[in-house]
Amino acid sequence: MLFFECGACQLPNKEQSALLAKTFGCVRFVYNKMLAERKEMYEKFKNDKESLKKQKFPTPAKYKSEFPFLKEVDSLALANAQMNLQTAYKNFFEGNADFPKFKNRKAKQSYTTNLVNGNIELKDGHIKLPKLKLVKIKQHREIPADYKLKSCTISRTKSGKYYVSVLTEYEKDIQPKTIENVIGLDFAMAELYVSSENEKANYPRYYRVMSEKLAKAGHILSKRKKGSARWNKQRLVVAKLHEKVANQRMNFLHHKSKELASNFDAVVIEDLNMKGMSQALHFGKSVHDNGWGMFTTFLAYKLKEQGKQLVKIDKWFPSTKKCSCCGAEKPVKLSERTYRCSCGYVADRDYNSAINIKNEGIRLLALS
Ligand SMILES: [Zn+2]
Repeated sequence: MLFFECGACQLPNKEQSALLAKTFGCVRFVYNKMLAERKEMYEKFKNDKESLKKQKFPTPAKYKSEFPFLKEVDSLALANAQMNLQTAYKNFFEGNADFPKFKNRKAKQSYTTNLVNGNIELKDGHIKLPKLKLVKIKQHREIPADYKLKSCTISRTKSGKYYVSVLTEYEKDIQPKTIENVIGLDFAMAELYVSSENEKANYPRYYRVMSEKLAKAGHILSKRKKGSARWNKQRLVVAKLHEKVANQRMNFLHHKSKELASNFDAVVIEDLNMKGMSQALHFGKSVHDNGWGMFTTFLAYKLKEQGKQLVKIDKWFPSTKKCSCCGAEKPVKLSERTYRCSCGYVADRDYNSAINIKNEGIRLLALS
């Protein structure tokens, strides 16, 4: 089973926009209600893990009599809010994330709905969605006829554009590919990665130019009086630039992952815990912004489609410390950009790591 995601711009009419705004609001409302209950439960039982585990998760249905406006929106959207909260809570419970946060008005406006009994349909430049009926769309990519629709995520960007992302699933008989060409990638801060072929995946120049523009526009915004007409105007400028930069980054990540997936049979990466890493190295936001997580997701499905493999090696593997020539290990400071070994081997630090990652991947592939 493979998944295929396809985006489209949505052009809702006035009535539909109002209902969308209501749905975003209800989803946030229900999420926060359930979270508040969950939080209370957690505080009450946090010292008694067994009882805590037995507590039932609140469901959206229980709020509908007290808050009848919830009945006016797509109930599947509310059910998905519950699913999202459950996942966020599970991640927290397993020690992989902080306690879920309440969503404020500034949170991303979006909701997900699922296909049940033909409630969603794509036809003639329109998409049929629960409660909304037919919404006009501008589709970017055609969905093949034998792909089964699974779910839709509807969102509104800060600059006021609407998008729908359609998730489909399809059957494909994938033959595993014989692995001949392997590449290792070492995660790098500024350039996304350095490969075992000594290639740096640099973000293109236009991306840097846009990022600088965005920083400037943000600076102007910070100087304007919050809530004023000029502030509002600038806020829109910033939001539009943000969306442009995000799109450019996504295109670049698609392009790079496609290139790797067509040229290699297996790609080896380190299984990094981004959250832990950004905290440990004090890189803060930039580690997330770099797009590594999105990049590896793209890479994984692009390889899978072709019967190829993404190999993740243990994050404790000493990729940086090891000499890729003789195998000796030595401590390496973060400031040391060149790896020098007593055996005489000298190489760029990230390049040396990438070779180690590749070799470890080959070892693991041989075992499996
Ligand atoms: Zn050496």
